[in-house]
Amino acid sequence: MKALSSHRRITVKIGSALLVDRASGLKREWLASLAEDIGRLTAEGCEVLVVSSGAIALGRNILGLGRRALRLEESQAAAAAGQIALAGAWAEELGRVGLKSGQVLVTLGDTEERRRYLNARATISTLLKLNAVPVINENDTVATSEIRYGDNDRLAARVATMMGADLLVLLSDIDGLYTAPPQLDPDAIFIPHVEAITPQIEAMAGAAASELSRGGMRTKIDAGKIATAAGTAMIITSGARQNPLAAIDAGERATYFEASAHPVRGYKTWIAGQLEPAGRISVDAGAVRALQAGKSLLPAGVTLVSGQFARGDTVAILGPDGAEVARGLVAYDATDAVKIAGLKTAEIETVLGYEARAAMVHRDDLVMSRAVVAG
Ligand code: GLU
Repeated sequence: MKALSSHRRITVKIGSALLVDRASGLKREWLASLAEDIGRLTAEGCEVLVVSSGAIALGRNILGLGRRALRLEESQAAAAAGQIALAGAWAEELGRVGLKSGQVLVTLGDTEERRRYLNARATISTLLKLNAVPVINENDTVATSEIRYGDNDRLAARVATMMGADLLVLLSDIDGLYTAPPQLDPDAIFIPHVEAITPQIEAMAGAAASELSRGGMRTKIDAGKIATAAGTAMIITSGARQNPLAAIDAGERATYFEASAHPVRGYKTWIAGQLEPAGRISVDAGAVRALQAGKSLLPAGVTLVSGQFARGDTVAILGPDGAEVARGLVAYDATDAVKIAGLKTAEIETVLGYEARAAMVHRDDLVMSRAVVAG
């Protein structure tokens, strides 16, 4: 593994369990040691962005909500109380090592809608330009369950790729990827290096999550898919020690996920990382070959359309075996897409009653899924 400081821009995600102790609240000393690491990396010329969880866990403690399950409005209230303390602590500890910081709270739409994505990116870039460490979290006080990331692993991957970071570090309470969840399977074997996230790697993730945090290994692997496809390498390691970033350089156990050698860029990064496709379009083998050759998806190759989507939404394109081969922005809404599935371009106007664009998904708006690119 290369030294952390040899990266240009690093996004570090911190899990709630590392920052917040159920009984005593914020783990100040640990945070101070992490701030020290960030100070050192910054001094060595590396830009660091922080995605910090812990608002809800800390707010629970501050508001005396105990360990019971929270109703939505209670967790939103907890986030409100927790976030103010969390951001304050970050500003103070980063300040102690001579760094400025700025709080950025995002909701799902800020990365999933193109215009808002560009806005969020401009703000975060400006903070970096002004030498302030962006301290980012989901805006949990307004997010409701249907319109939220829900876990900071994927949020951090979206932020890392949006900002063109070359490395994403997920600090959590597990030290890396195992062949099976180690708490359930004593024979689980540790995996230090992942070249590409294949279906076998995905199968290792299981679904386990710890009590304080939302994500388990599942969301970390999802984060890895988003990150590596866009050219961002990823490290999963336990942040449990003091100075957890220095510990990585010192050889602490960690799993390293290689970035794709053929990353998608810019606009296509945004398409590839879309969290939830609004619909699915199944295509025949001929269409898969055309897509692999860099062509647009034509209605003629479409065998099935499912889901409710509007023109411009993201859809997943599935091959005859049901595996995802590509993602793209669809040129028709679901109703029209169903009507023209399987039709030749010349037949479309008669069916729709208007002269339509030929492609179902234009090649400029399309990104091949990594497994396919890798063969
Ligand atoms: N955004 C949540 C919080 O700050 C954490 C989400 C997660 O645990 O991944 O409390």
